[in-house]
Amino acid sequence: MTAESDLIILRQAPEIHLKAPGTRRHFTRILQRNLRRALEDIPHRLATAQGRLLLRTTERERALEILPRVFGVSTFSPVVAEVEPELEAIVDGVRRHFTEVVRGRTYAVRCKRQGTKRVSATRIEREAGAALNGPGKVNLDAPDVTVRIDLQEDRAWLFSERRRGAGGLPLGVQGRTLVLLSGGFDSAVAAWYLMRRGAATDFVFCNLGGPTHEAMVAAIARRLAGDWAHGTRPRLYVVDFEAVVEDLRASLPGDMWQIVLKRLMYRAAEAVAARSGAEALVTGEALSQVSSQTLSNLQTIDAAATLPVLRPLIGFDKQEITDRARAIGTFELCERVPEFCALTEQPPLVESRTSRIERAEGALDPAILQQAIDSLCERDPLAADDGPDGVAGEGEGIFVDRIPEGATVIDCQPPEAYRRWHWPGAENHPADTLLQTFADWPSDREYVLYCQRGSNSAVIAERMQRAGFRARAFRGGVDRLKKQGRISTG
Ligand code: ATP
Ligand code: MG
Repeated sequence: MTAESDLIILRQAPEIHLKAPGTRRHFTRILQRNLRRALEDIPHRLATAQGRLLLRTTERERALEILPRVFGVSTFSPVVAEVEPELEAIVDGVRRHFTEVVRGRTYAVRCKRQGTKRVSATRIEREAGAALNGPGKVNLDAPDVTVRIDLQEDRAWLFSERRRGAGGLPLGVQGRTLVLLSGGFDSAVAAWYLMRRGAATDFVFCNLGGPTHEAMVAAIARRLAGDWAHGTRPRLYVVDFEAVVEDLRASLPGDMWQIVLKRLMYRAAEAVAARSGAEALVTGEALSQVSSQTLSNLQTIDAAATLPVLRPLIGFDKQEITDRARAIGTFELCERVPEFCALTEQPPLVESRTSRIERAEGALDPAILQQAIDSLCERDPLAADDGPDGVAGEGEGIFVDRIPEGATVIDCQPPEAYRRWHWPGAENHPADTLLQTFADWPSDREYVLYCQRGSNSAVIAERMQRAGFRARAFRGGVDRLKKQGRISTG
């Protein structure tokens, strides 16, 4: 590293310091490995000193962008100047580098001495403090700026900032987990919390919505893997659930679909876990968030798994989850994903009894789930050419934001909803029956489908496209369509 390289001091989570020496060394080694991976594209050197890590780099700004995303770093400080460890040089350095920083503000000077006996820390604090008096005003209790002097044997480091790191423990100190990733806000945030406690994560996605849905979920996995998983290489496993859902829809009453679907997902996830070596499943449920997330239903769902099911968000409010999603960078990606569900608008059971659900599941054909598991697809979210063929990542090609002139408009809602309101001229074909019937429709027309929220219609439009139809879904569903109706008629 050249003389012009900058120094950044990294502090590990206080928790790490409480560990037995062997464990602490192990954790620190993993943290160093992860940092090297995170910083592999920029020149850098890493060393340990007095329980801290010292990073030298010629690309300070890029390093400062990456560091807050490495788990196990609790805070870090970019060093502003390195000077000789002598009183005069330190006071001079403080005056030169901090006069403008403290101007018009209050400040305190703190000096920490590592080993050297030459100068007293109190004296340095007093004299360096005096050098700034005038431009700034001393306040030892609650200063706006704390100027810090870290006095080493052969150098003194001057800095004032203490930035927050990601906290948690170095990724990789725990075993491996498998996160059920849906494309919604919650499961991506749940994955982040497990990673933050040091568990390596892979992702499993049960695909209900075709290639568009898959591409959207792959983008979320890529964000988590690329920005947060430094030091590990998460995999994305995709299980095609189309046939599973169809069997479910044909064989069981609608109020059971959601719960049974989750149980089938857990079974698929366990098969993936056996292959990936995961020791636990992770999901994004928060108690009472939606009617399927009652204690009773969680118990029924849990009974389908033999591995522990970890739910790091169980006590979180929706607001806390979306705030966190913004901070970790998954919000914008998840926001675009429509709620692909089991093609029902019927509310799920709130109270489910495991025995009753188990009996009902007897109507399903187990070979269908097994086949879905057997044709599992494993992907590397960071591979450049990854993604199902011909998918425009963001659902382009599936959604429209306007009803085009001359299009045949299909209302996919249940008949009662259609009777309450529908787009002028729209034909009613409820989602449940539509999938069985569209094959017989004229294929020379352009179709626009809409449903309550825009998700079911997207699933169906995509299947129609695959069957050769020109079909798209109206983005945002009925609420947005009503607004557009008002604009175009009014
Ligand atoms: P999310 O925001 O993660 O979608 P949610 O609050 O919408 O969660 P549900 O849709 O009931 O809740 O799903 C609960 C959990 O089940 C999800 O957090 C996720 O871990 C898992 N899950 C749901 N759908 C899928 C799917 N298609 N593939 C894999 N896992 C899923
Ligand atoms: Mg969801």
